[in-house]
Amino acid sequence: MKEINAVDFEKEVLNGGKVVIDFYSTECAPCEALAPKFDAMAELYGEKIKFLKIFRQGNRELATELGVSSSPTLLFFENGKQVSGSINGGIKKSEIRERLDAMLTSEEITAIKANQKPIVSEYDVAILGGGPAGLTAGLYLGQAKIKTVLIDPALPGGYMGITHQVSNYPGFTEAQPGFMLAHYMSEQAKQTGIDFKVAVDITSVDLLKKEIVIDELETIRAKKIIIATGTTPNTMNAPGESEFKGKGISYCATCDAKYFVDKEVTVIGGGNSAVEEALFITKFASKVTIIHQFDKLTANQTAIEQLQDNEKITVMYEHEPRGFEKRGNIMITTIEDLKTKEVKELESDGVFVFIGFKSNVSDLGETLPDMNNWGYILTDEDMKTSIPDVFAIGDIISKKYRQITTAVADGTIAAITISKEL
Ligand SMILES: Cc1cc2nc3c(=O)[nH]c(=O)nc-3n(C[C@H](O)[C@H](O)[C@H](O)COP(=O)(O)OP(=O)(O)OC[C@H]3O[C@@H](n4cnc5c(N)ncnc54)[C@H](O)[C@@H]3O)c2cc1C
Repeated sequence: MKEINAVDFEKEVLNGGKVVIDFYSTECAPCEALAPKFDAMAELYGEKIKFLKIFRQGNRELATELGVSSSPTLLFFENGKQVSGSINGGIKKSEIRERLDAMLTSEEITAIKANQKPIVSEYDVAILGGGPAGLTAGLYLGQAKIKTVLIDPALPGGYMGITHQVSNYPGFTEAQPGFMLAHYMSEQAKQTGIDFKVAVDITSVDLLKKEIVIDELETIRAKKIIIATGTTPNTMNAPGESEFKGKGISYCATCDAKYFVDKEVTVIGGGNSAVEEALFITKFASKVTIIHQFDKLTANQTAIEQLQDNEKITVMYEHEPRGFEKRGNIMITTIEDLKTKEVKELESDGVFVFIGFKSNVSDLGETLPDMNNWGYILTDEDMKTSIPDVFAIGDIISKKYRQITTAVADGTIAAITISKEL
C-alpha cells in the first residue's frame, strides 16, 4: 500500500493496471473505521491489485475532478478507466471485496480465498450495538480496564447519530445535533482503549457459546455479551417516506413535538403509542389530525377518552397514507379513503408516524433470551437476561420509556455489574 499525491496520479493510476484508491480525511470517523479493513484487503489482494491512499484535503482539485465529495471514498480503476462505481461512508469489507473480485478472474479469486486465514480474538466483553446504550457500556468497561470490543454493522451513534436536534440530553444548554453527541460519545468510549469493529457484517451470533463471527472470517469470543442492538421503527414504505424522514416526517414526539408550537400536525396510527403521542403533541400544536386505517382506535379506553375530550384532535377513520411530498415547508400527505377509494391531499406542518417499532433481535442467532410478547428482551435490575453472562440494554429491552438518557443508564448498570463480576 502506498500514499500518493495528485502529481503521481497519472503514473500510478492511469498507467497503473488494476488500482483501488482510498480518498481519506483527518478527523473522519468512517475513515478511521475503514483504515484497518483497507490494510487487511491490501495484504490479501495486494499482488493482483494496487492499493493507494490519497489525502483528500491535500489533493482537493483531483478529488473534485474525480467526483469525490465525501470521505472516505473508494475508487476502482482498471487500465486507466474507473470501474465498479465509487463507495463511501461506512464502508463494509464485503462491499470492497465484491468490487475487487469483479476485477479478477475466478481462478485468482479462488487462490486469494485459499490464502485467507481465519482470525480468532478473545475479549472479556463483546458489546453488540454502538448506540448510546452500547457506547456508555463501552465507556465504563474501558475505564474499568476490561478488555472490550464494540461491534456494529453501521457506524457508532445509533438513532442519536441521525437525530436532527437533541435538546433533552443533560449537560448542554443548547440543543445538540445528534451526530455531534454521537461523535462525543464514541470518541469518549474509544479513548478508554476499547476496540471498535464497526461497519462490519455480522455473520453469526451464538449467545450460548458467547461467539460472534464478523465479516465471515473473524471469530470474537467473549466471557460476557451485552446486547444493545436497539429497535427499528415500522415504516409504511409509502413513496416519499424515506426521503422526508427527519425532514418533515418524525417517529418521536418526545423529541420533535416541541418544534410544532401553534402548527398543524398529521399523526399516522391508531394504537396506544399513536393516541398517547397525539395527546402529547397537542401541548404544542394547534391541530392534530390522526389518520387511522380501521373504523375504531385500538388504544386503551383511558387514552381514547382523553382523546375524545381533546378539541385539538380529529380522527380520519378508514384512511391510509399513500405518499408524502413537501411543497415549501408544507408536508402533503396523500391519503386514500378505504371505503370510497377517494384519494385526497392533507396539508400539515409535519407528520408523525407511530405504527410501532420492532426490536433488532433477528441477527442474534438461534437461542435468544426470554422476551415479552412484543419481542423486547426481559432483564432484571442488573440488565441480566435469562441466558447466563448475556446482558441487554437500551431500547431492545422491555421497558416503558425509550430515550437516550434511559439507554445510557442501562449501559451504566450493565457495565458496573460486569466490572464487579470479572
Ligand atoms: C427519530 C428519532 C428521534 C429521537 N430523538 C430523541 C431525542 O431527541 N432525545 C432522546 O432522548 N431520545 C430520542 N430518540 C430515542 C433514542 O434515540 C433511543 O432511545 C436511543 O438511541 C436508544 O439507544 P440504543 O443504544 O438502545 O439503540 P440505538 O440508538 O437504536 O442503537 C442501536 C445500535 O445497534 C446497531 N445494531 C443493530 N443490529 C445489530 C446487530 N445485530 N449487531 C450489532 N449491532 C447492531 C445499530 O446499527 C445501532 O447502531 C429518538 C428516536 C427516534 C427514532
